[in-house]
Amino acid sequence: MERDPKAMTAMLLGIPGVRALEIGEVSGEVHVELETVADEATCPSCGAVAEQCGSEVVDRPGLPAFGRPVLLSWRLRQWRCSSSTCSSNPWVEEIPWSAEGGLSRG
Ligand SMILES: [Zn+2]
Repeated sequence: MERDPKAMTAMLLGIPGVRALEIGEVSGEVHVELETVADEATCPSCGAVAEQCGSEVVDRPGLPAFGRPVLLSWRLRQWRCSSSTCSSNPWVEEIPWSAEGGLSRG
């Protein structure tokens, strides 16, 4: 059995490759802050190693948990290519799951 609270939250969510950062309740709604476990990325243009240059938080509805509405706050990493000769623009990682479509990859 799992005893770590964040691991328990991740297990309840059942979204692979995602970890819970914080969980709270606002006006009867469960708020979960999430991030992916992808702590490295490669440039989609040249394949070089990317470096993180920021992050943004995007709110998306989750599925009700035990009858209560759920709001998912995704903390998405912003990446940029580490190559000085590459002209690709910084990009933000994609949200890996949605209430409508489920997992968007894999
Ligand atoms: Zn690049």
